[in-house]
Amino acid sequence: MNKISVVVLLSIFLLLSCKNEPNSENNTPMEVDMSNNPLLAEWDTPFGVPPFDKIKSENYLPACREAMKIHNKEIDAIIYNKDEATFENTIETLEASGLLLNRIENTFFAVSSANTNDVLKETRKIISPELAAHRDDIILNTELFNRIKSVYSQRETIDLEAEELFLLEETYKKYVRAGVNLEEGKKDRLKAINKRLSELSTKFGDNLLDETNDFELYVSDKNDLGNMSVSLMASSAEEAKKRGRKSGWSFTLQRPSINPFLQTSTNREYREKLFQGYALRGDNDNEKDNKAIIKEMTSLRVEKANLLGYKSHANYVLSNSMSETPEAVYELMGKLWTSAINMAKKDREALAEMMRNEGVEGEFRGSDWRYYVEKIRAQRFNFNEDETRPYFEFTAVREGVFMLADKLFGLKFKPIDDAPKWHEDQQVFEVLEADGTHVGVIYMDFFTRESKRGGAWMNELRMQSNMDDFVTPIVTNNFNFPPPTKDTPSLLSFGEAQTLFHEFGHALHGLLSRVKYRSLSGTNVPRDFVEFPSQVMENWMSEPEVLALYAKHYKTGEVIPAEIIRKMNDANSFNEGFRTVEYMAAAYLDMNWHSLTKSTEKDVRSFEKEAMDKIGLISEIIPRYRSTYYAHIFSGGYSAGYYSYLWSEVLDADTFNEFKKTGDIFDPDLAKKYRAMLAAGGSKSGMDLYMDFLGRTPEIGPLLKKKGFN
Ligand SMILES: [Zn+2]
Repeated sequence: MNKISVVVLLSIFLLLSCKNEPNSENNTPMEVDMSNNPLLAEWDTPFGVPPFDKIKSENYLPACREAMKIHNKEIDAIIYNKDEATFENTIETLEASGLLLNRIENTFFAVSSANTNDVLKETRKIISPELAAHRDDIILNTELFNRIKSVYSQRETIDLEAEELFLLEETYKKYVRAGVNLEEGKKDRLKAINKRLSELSTKFGDNLLDETNDFELYVSDKNDLGNMSVSLMASSAEEAKKRGRKSGWSFTLQRPSINPFLQTSTNREYREKLFQGYALRGDNDNEKDNKAIIKEMTSLRVEKANLLGYKSHANYVLSNSMSETPEAVYELMGKLWTSAINMAKKDREALAEMMRNEGVEGEFRGSDWRYYVEKIRAQRFNFNEDETRPYFEFTAVREGVFMLADKLFGLKFKPIDDAPKWHEDQQVFEVLEADGTHVGVIYMDFFTRESKRGGAWMNELRMQSNMDDFVTPIVTNNFNFPPPTKDTPSLLSFGEAQTLFHEFGHALHGLLSRVKYRSLSGTNVPRDFVEFPSQVMENWMSEPEVLALYAKHYKTGEVIPAEIIRKMNDANSFNEGFRTVEYMAAAYLDMNWHSLTKSTEKDVRSFEKEAMDKIGLISEIIPRYRSTYYAHIFSGGYSAGYYSYLWSEVLDADTFNEFKKTGDIFDPDLAKKYRAMLAAGGSKSGMDLYMDFLGRTPEIGPLLKKKGFN
């Protein structure tokens, strides 16, 4: 269900986070003795994974600061090198610098996203602006840039391999885009803006997590739960106990709780309460309110874009993407919006009619939508999502992605039992080629818990590279699946199973990378390309041949019957209008906030309302993310980028259609070409990668067909 963010580290670091300068030693998680800091030592672990069992939360801050000092020395050595600037002594040496810092940051941000605590939260607040400032000091350093520029100006005459030339061009572009050519006063202002944005972004995320965790809907009467799944009833009963209740069920605003509740609860007022609780996160005019933060962030982003010579933040961001301009993004969205909203309006009529037929008085509301969708699915398609859950037990789905990777690329997965972990629930696997060659390591963390941020994501603990030695990748997949209870295993909805395939696609992108340079490896691709290798996996998951591999009943082992698949596909296509509209409304909202050419006088609520009125959004559907809980764009790296999923969807539908056309969805030749594209990581532009893969530009036809829009 959820559209998910991959943490694209390079882009996100500039946007990360914090609020106050550390002004007292008391709240500073500082450990004085450096000699015992495992983050700074050699890692004697299987495949060099981080020694999570030895790292203490207090270790990150001092290690990070130490690594920044070392990084600075490496940069100084480049700047003060007496020799004339060359590709090797400048570009490659710069590329190789900061390795220790990178290792610590990757570990820190992975753990603090997936298993945070008070010390990690505090560390994040302190370290994020320091890291932002550290990056700025390097990327805005004129002396360093002069050396880069000197090599860049000789690029036509020096003999470079394609990837080397691309690295040179990307490095040069990155520095210019960051503002290195600005005069000193403006540079100082830019640094101040970056620091402030980083602080606001952390604050936004903290507020959101608190607002999500603080909410509780308590239900004491079983009749109000309706036809709720056994597993959700069990986990919400446990939640109620955790909150000190003697009996009953407690529902929160976490995804595994909210959607199933809205689908099944027969109590209309409870549905409304949960729906509003969700929709008003960060918008409650309390100390956790995010509205002022949004105003300040959007206004700082315009100012920054203007400083750098761009009309708007969107123009600035998109100049570095496959789509290139806001106009291209609006054009793509325009091709789908009318069909989507019309389809949703048609569905609304059917849903509202069903509600009236049940004798329910009053207006059909957003909080009624999912409930009646399930009713129509049951009535029209004789389908109930709970019928499928037993076939999507999480271990079976995990085996499904592994088998798919085997079918396409011959990969094997072997548990590493002695790998250190950040949480006992994690599972760790070695990834191997068919011939047994080591490929990399994947960490998988499946279940929801309070210490984990919402959604699902992939990140890289170590990126593949091949400068002096071949460095193999270590990647992670993180989910918020319902944890198993005493009596039931974790049974996934179709959407959750789809999410597992999605994130695993990102993982493969990282794992199959075969480039020379770390900064061009794996998922370091333009943001509107990065969702392509993940989304394409979702196409395979519901193919009967793939379902037969893994979708087996957790009790009987029976493969999901063809009849249920057919019903499921019909039922799933029923609500396509809603899904596209909900997503695209959020994509429009993001583009509207970031196409501003000066800061807006309007308050957040009116701005959002106007943006939604302009596209004719109906009141029964709210954007997938409203402004005040839009973490992707206000505390993640997706500002002016939420459209990327749609852009990538054009690519993934087009690609899967090519597989279909061969008559074999595992076609070895096409799979080989596809793997070659993943192997190239970000060592070429998005369009060049695609051209190399299929020998042509992407076509939108297959996506329109898939959505039933033509
Ligand atoms: Zn993704």
